[in-house]
Amino acid sequence: MQLLMDRIRKDGKIKAGNVLKVDSFLNHQMDIELFKEIGKEFKRRFADVEINKILTIEASGIGIACIVAQYFNVPVVFAKKTQTKNIAGEVYTSRVESYTHGRIYDIIVAKEFLGKGDKVLVIDDFLANGKALEGLTALIKESGAELVGAGIVIEKGFQVGGDIIRSSGIRLESLAIVDSMDEETGTIVFRNEEK
Ligand code: 5GP
Repeated sequence: MQLLMDRIRKDGKIKAGNVLKVDSFLNHQMDIELFKEIGKEFKRRFADVEINKILTIEASGIGIACIVAQYFNVPVVFAKKTQTKNIAGEVYTSRVESYTHGRIYDIIVAKEFLGKGDKVLVIDDFLANGKALEGLTALIKESGAELVGAGIVIEKGFQVGGDIIRSSGIRLESLAIVDSMDEETGTIVFRNEEK
């Protein structure tokens, strides 16, 4: 998605540890006009499949998922991050290793909001090593729902997540794939860029 690539190049900041900061339009301040274009693009890419629910993970995924959901006319469920021990009963749980925070946390979704018969599109802001997506996939599997696909705003193609998810047979659509980025020069190379 060229609009998004242009924006990343203009406003993205490359930080140590292969972290791309996009706080001015995606992760802190949110550009809703851009989010609308993102929503339209996901709708176009997943136009051939039936989706009745969008699943994301707090916090950064929520804003994006809510705008995207307006183009699918479906509810959004977000997995909550928790450090509560011994959660049982009415929730599905999975363990996720955080890329940006470097720690492990549990994610939960209440059983009443996900289950057999649901056709789920997962939406998230970034794909790095794929841990968040794997955690969400595990929750969906446990619930008996069907994972229709995953829509990612920015994939860091030089990290392993994309390969792992694609080779597991999940339909993955990333709107911008960063193949390399250089902290020194600020250069970003995108996969399949039109220009
Ligand atoms: P993964 O689980 O794929 O390793 O990492 C994905 C999660 O880590 C995303 O939900 C996102 O919040 C965060 N993340 C990973 N890499 C980056 C990055 O370069 N920039 C930002 N802002 N977040 C990232």
